Amino acid sequence: MKFPRTVKHANSLLAGTGTTIFTIMSALAVKHNAINLGQGFPDTEGPADIVRAAADALLDGRNQYPPLTGVPELRGAVAAANRRFYGLEIDLVSGVVVTSGATEAITASLMALLNPGDEVVLIEPLYDTYLPVVRMLGAVPKLVRLQPPHWALPRAELEAAFGPKTKLILLNSPMNPTGKVFTRDELAFIAGLLRQHDAYAVCDEVYEHLVFSGAQHIPLATLPGMAERTLRIGSAGKTFSLTGWKVGYVSGPVPLMDLVAKAHQNLTFTTAPNLQRAVAVGLAKPDAYFQGLAAALEGRRNQLDAGLKRLGFATLPASGSYFITVDVSALGFEGDDVAFCEAITVQAGVAAIPVSAFYVGDAPRQYARFAFCKQEQVLDEALRRLEGWVAARPLTALA
Ligand code: PMP
Ligand code: GLN
Repeated sequence: MKFPRTVKHANSLLAGTGTTIFTIMSALAVKHNAINLGQGFPDTEGPADIVRAAADALLDGRNQYPPLTGVPELRGAVAAANRRFYGLEIDLVSGVVVTSGATEAITASLMALLNPGDEVVLIEPLYDTYLPVVRMLGAVPKLVRLQPPHWALPRAELEAAFGPKTKLILLNSPMNPTGKVFTRDELAFIAGLLRQHDAYAVCDEVYEHLVFSGAQHIPLATLPGMAERTLRIGSAGKTFSLTGWKVGYVSGPVPLMDLVAKAHQNLTFTTAPNLQRAVAVGLAKPDAYFQGLAAALEGRRNQLDAGLKRLGFATLPASGSYFITVDVSALGFEGDDVAFCEAITVQAGVAAIPVSAFYVGDAPRQYARFAFCKQEQVLDEALRRLEGWVAARPLTALA
């Protein structure tokens, strides 16, 4: 049977949402056999003991629906990690909800707090799932832009974005795509606005453990008066280099977490039990694991940063996350960031992500994001390819 080509209008917001840039650039990378420094995922497996714990957990007969908010082992481990790393006290029974990735955690947190018409303060450049979800919930985005190259917080503009209808700020630190880690001073300013406007914060802290020397990750929840109004989100994908697992967690004050649990109940209800149990093993790892992860990534950041600079790319400072951004205009490339990323994928065999994809409307068009969460020899090969491409001047967009 043939389906009619047109039926009643479906959801117009989703109909107007494009495929994510990460999928687009990964597909282009595969097509051109390019080294994928676009979509942020490590090219090595996470710790073998965690993977083994997941495999073992599959075989010991606990494969039916786990509890709605997560297996007790993982909820306990998330609470313990909050205490160990940040001194945050989280209720063991109701203070944590385990989700299917931070992606679900973000959506569930926004569902928990927003009513139609509420205003949400968002900081550009922003991660791609934030805006569609805010809009689908009928809330009104208020966008504030960080200014490159230092991505400083424009305080007067941030203050102006807050008003009587502000329900929350969605804050990503360490930040994708900029690698910015918000300072205590910036967080204190944000905290002041939240207190003044009696607003909430949803803190996307998926890169919490990927912070490099000279910077420190400070959860907003640790500032005075913030714990009671903050939902803090983490991701096992990032903390254990297992991005395909899609295990995330939200922690916060019980009255808010009860609502996050309701949202989760209606989104996915629960998350694979073996992966949850393995992530609990991971979170209990000694400090040396977390320090080693950050140190290894810092080495890769330095390698890519130095290599790109040597080729004439103007890199911007990155203190955390998987990413470093470059100003492509400094290289003399004739075209915007999208043209640049396409050109290097096709001509050089190295994929990157155009930073304009992290903006709404009129965006800066000269920045590209490279992921450095790759093996040393892979980054070396990517740099070698880029060197050949840069040598073949003039650098022009694809015809
Ligand atoms: N937030 C940010 C800032 C991210 O970069 C990502 C992507 N990896 C996510 C959330 C989603 O994390 P997860 O894969 O756990 O859903
Ligand atoms: N967070 C990853 C990135 O920024 C991508 C995740 C995804 O593909 N949805 O590269």
